[in-house]
Amino acid sequence: MRAPVCTHCQARVGREQHRCPECHARLGFVPELGMLCSFEDRGEAGWHPLGVSGIGVRLPCGNYGEHPICHWTVAADAPDCFCEACRCVARTPRLADAAERQRWARFGRARRELFTGLRQLGLLDSRGRPHGLPEPLFDVVDEGIRGNGTAIVQANPAGPVLVDLARIDALGDAQLFDALRRAIGLRLGLDAIA
Ligand SMILES: [Zn+2]
Ligand SMILES: [Zn+2]
Repeated sequence: MRAPVCTHCQARVGREQHRCPECHARLGFVPELGMLCSFEDRGEAGWHPLGVSGIGVRLPCGNYGEHPICHWTVAADAPDCFCEACRCVARTPRLADAAERQRWARFGRARRELFTGLRQLGLLDSRGRPHGLPEPLFDVVDEGIRGNGTAIVQANPAGPVLVDLARIDALGDAQLFDALRRAIGLRLGLDAIA
């Protein structure tokens, strides 16, 4: 994948950066285009694309926030305020300390990578959900049933894929992504998804 640039001033920007270091435009990923885009933040009037055509006014994902853990955007007129990779989780766990917030951020990054792949393969419907799978797609394991020899990512045939956040440190980023990809592939009845 090409290194992202600011679509307003063409400066090189980081893949998950939130502002262009040169022109200070807001940066947000547009899943429908599969690219990071620059925006003028007009407050209540939304984020207006700079130097990109084919998209209307956007809003940052509800998880963007002050200390952002997601850098995706949604269409301003979309019914959901969270992006497809954030709203597929049943709930946000208690994030009491830095280690828990870091695990949650890693899980988010792996989900965004997963949804990017699902979209490229045409496996998402018009609302950004994998075709034929119930929502929510993911849930986190409750503290009460944590551990005890089960897989860190469990492809539960009846309900959401369960992710034991407390144990994901045992998986590298690529392994975590692979575990999510396999679990969703199983739910979709595919051997694997790209
Ligand atoms: Zn710029
Ligand atoms: Zn999001």
